[in-house]
Amino acid sequence: MRIGYGEDTHRMAEGKKLVLGGVAIPSPRGPLAHSDGDALLHALTDALLSAIALGDIGALFPDTAPENAGRNSREFLEAALRAVRERGYRVFQVSAVIVLDRPKLGPHRGAIQENLARLLDLPLDRIGLTFKTSEGLAPEHLQARATVLLLPLGQGEA
Ligand SMILES: [Zn+2]
Repeated sequence: MRIGYGEDTHRMAEGKKLVLGGVAIPSPRGPLAHSDGDALLHALTDALLSAIALGDIGALFPDTAPENAGRNSREFLEAALRAVRERGYRVFQVSAVIVLDRPKLGPHRGAIQENLARLLDLPLDRIGLTFKTSEGLAPEHLQARATVLLLPLGQGEA
């Protein structure tokens, strides 16, 4: 089996859209980013790439490239999932942490979990999501951390 860890940080700013795990979350503030700033999908993508030692999201999709501007982060995740499968692995479990002071994410847990389940083709009980605040230490920060466990294709299908 393989394990991968990834993390991602963006600065929050007024008037930007907040999207986490592919789910739009009502908020007066959102991340400043070259892409859509979906920190959870970025951390997850890096975790997948790390698990197969394939560098990171910045190497695959440079943020200096104009074609990556405003890009839907689902494309980054799908590219990493393809690379995982090509190397003979599949995602078995995901565990992620999001650190954000405002807005509170608790009410959106189910929607984020369901969207990740769909994107990763996983049952809900293998997607752990922990929501934390910075306790006011970093009110402008959005941070996501993700760990993935990969199993060889065809193994542990239950
Ligand atoms: Zn990011």
